[in-house]
Amino acid sequence: MIKKFSLIASAILSMVVAVSAQTQPCGTDEHHRHLLKTYPIIADYEQQFNEQLGRGLAAKTTGSDLDTTYFDVPIIVHIVHDYGAENLSDNEIYDAAANWALAFVKKNSDTAAVIEPFKKYIGDARMRLHLATIDPDGNPTKGVIRHHSYLTNSGDDRAKFESWPNNRYINIWFVNAITRGAAAYAYYPSGGAGIPHYDGVISLASYIDRSKTIPHELGHVLNLQHVWGNNNNAAVACGDDQVHDTPPTKGHTPGCVLSTIYDTTCATGYARTYLSASGLVDSLVDYPDTTNAQNIMDYSYCSNMFSAGQCVRMREALTSSVAGRNNLITEANLAATGALAPTPDLPPVAEFTLNKAIGAGTITDARSYFLTFNSIGEFSFRNASWNDTISSVLWQFSNGAAQPVSTNTGTVTNRFSVPGWVTTTLTATSNAGSNTIVNTRSVYAADTTVAGGLGYSQKFSSIGDIPNWPMMNYYNNRFQWEFYNGAGMGDNSCIRYRSFDSTNKRTGIASGDYDDIYTPAFNLAGVSGDVFVNFYTSGALVSGSSSTSRDSLQVDVSTNGGAIWTKIAGYRGTDLANNGAQSGNFIHGASSSWKSRSVSVPAVYRNSQTFFRLRFRPGNIGNNLYLDNFGISNLPAQLEEMTVNGTNTFSIFPNPSSAGSTLVFNSVNGGIAKYSIRDVAGRVVYEEEAEVFSNSINRIFIPRSEVPVAGLYFVTLTTGSMNTTEKMLVY
Ligand SMILES: [Zn+2]
Repeated sequence: MIKKFSLIASAILSMVVAVSAQTQPCGTDEHHRHLLKTYPIIADYEQQFNEQLGRGLAAKTTGSDLDTTYFDVPIIVHIVHDYGAENLSDNEIYDAAANWALAFVKKNSDTAAVIEPFKKYIGDARMRLHLATIDPDGNPTKGVIRHHSYLTNSGDDRAKFESWPNNRYINIWFVNAITRGAAAYAYYPSGGAGIPHYDGVISLASYIDRSKTIPHELGHVLNLQHVWGNNNNAAVACGDDQVHDTPPTKGHTPGCVLSTIYDTTCATGYARTYLSASGLVDSLVDYPDTTNAQNIMDYSYCSNMFSAGQCVRMREALTSSVAGRNNLITEANLAATGALAPTPDLPPVAEFTLNKAIGAGTITDARSYFLTFNSIGEFSFRNASWNDTISSVLWQFSNGAAQPVSTNTGTVTNRFSVPGWVTTTLTATSNAGSNTIVNTRSVYAADTTVAGGLGYSQKFSSIGDIPNWPMMNYYNNRFQWEFYNGAGMGDNSCIRYRSFDSTNKRTGIASGDYDDIYTPAFNLAGVSGDVFVNFYTSGALVSGSSSTSRDSLQVDVSTNGGAIWTKIAGYRGTDLANNGAQSGNFIHGASSSWKSRSVSVPAVYRNSQTFFRLRFRPGNIGNNLYLDNFGISNLPAQLEEMTVNGTNTFSIFPNPSSAGSTLVFNSVNGGIAKYSIRDVAGRVVYEEEAEVFSNSINRIFIPRSEVPVAGLYFVTLTTGSMNTTEKMLVY
């Protein structure tokens, strides 16, 4: 029977906006709506596409429509990973890709489970998916590339590293987690035309071969809507996908049960009338009165079939110029991408990562890059080479280390007798050849020679000052600690964290990164009384940014050679960004100000080799942070300054506190000091007097037992020369 399809409606469906907080199988329509708002031109592409689609379908009604050609489509798989489970093995990817392909040639065996009414509507898209064997530069590839990034944990468009041209390859990225809670999403051709570098599919790695998630998303790439229409709200309202042989439906939430498979809601009495080719005789097609819950474009996860009508629509997408989809299948492109060639046998790509230190007990960090050579832990290096089956590896280490024998097991441990940056060389070998990676800053074996103790001062006056201050750029990107020559406190240099993140970047945003700078060892053994780590920072927000900066700085301490770190202070928000909003890349200048930081070091963290670590986490969108004049003192920074100037000042340490606080102050006049603590309601909870000495540092300890209820308090100190109130937080 020759059917005359009525022209597929070209209008964009009215877009139902409803954002669900729940995890959705697919976030395609939510992203599409967002895109339409950001790039209105996409609506034009959409219209252009639908006009082409209409013309194509109309043309089909005039012939016998016995199109038996096959379309071949090159694809490229990107793994965005941080060496976790999302770093899928080559074979997991190849096996999954072979399974995706089946649904597009009607070879998936589970079509046998399709219920009777739909058996005759199972479509064969006659599309063959191929992992590319030639990359955009003309080099051989096995169709899989890997990108090491923290953005695997917040997968969205900006995690789509190194998109290959979307008119030559369909890009598919895998990540560990997707923001907005979806398992995957893709862009329709109209979206792909508007933002070619984001075109393609992004999916959870855990969904690589689950419930036909990737065939579903590729369906969107080829202009298929969900069976209930283009929104993400399954099981809400009757809708249609502009495909005739998929009856109207509300769609279904995940859970493939009989009541879903045989659901008739919205589909009862569904039929269509078509004009015959002569235009004189009508023909009635009585489509199933059951919804097509087993359709791959439903959320039911029954996912057994595309319909014949969907296959027509997908094939039309591949002959449309919108987003250059029609270029994918050309002979020239298939030759250029090597899509029809067998997968080449290529040498491995040598790569390694670090595990937690071995034998170090509890470690909060996932990986250990910094240990002293007398640490209780050992560095643990893990082979992560890929691109071929690895037959052997050869490790080589500098810094007086033992050279391990060749191993296939993946992990070697080592320690180093010469302090400093360690060069690690890994050669991975397969039947097709070898590849070597040399990393001259793989890990840092810290010197245990102490740099000082109480009274230590570091002004970062020249880069030669800080050979024992290793800066770790774990993700090897532009967001990092560095020595900075151009501004400083009292001189012209300091260190800074480059956090500035331009708002118009396509991929690789700062948020999610973290980087460390480590101090040398300090001898604080037996030091009694207060010990403070003092330093100064100068930070800023990015002006015009709609969101508050989420940059943060944390101070950690270790007394066992870097095996275990404990946080002792943290700063963020407008406190860290003490210079307010700055346009663009913040450079500390004459009008910028420094803010003093004083971190109390509890006695339990003082030993003969005490290390500190400054960890910066850039936010999106953050700005640079300058840091200078690092010292260790029995006075907090501002008191040190004020003492020198002979000025009244008053501070509370630690604050916040859970075990009592000390009021530390410099009073110009001696005599009696009165101090009182009031709660937020103004009630006095504690009041006392003490004798103080003039022009000297006075300390008054307030035990926690005097302030038994956690909360915010106001501490007022009155001496002969000052009357000052400070906030104190007790937890
Ligand atoms: Zn979807």
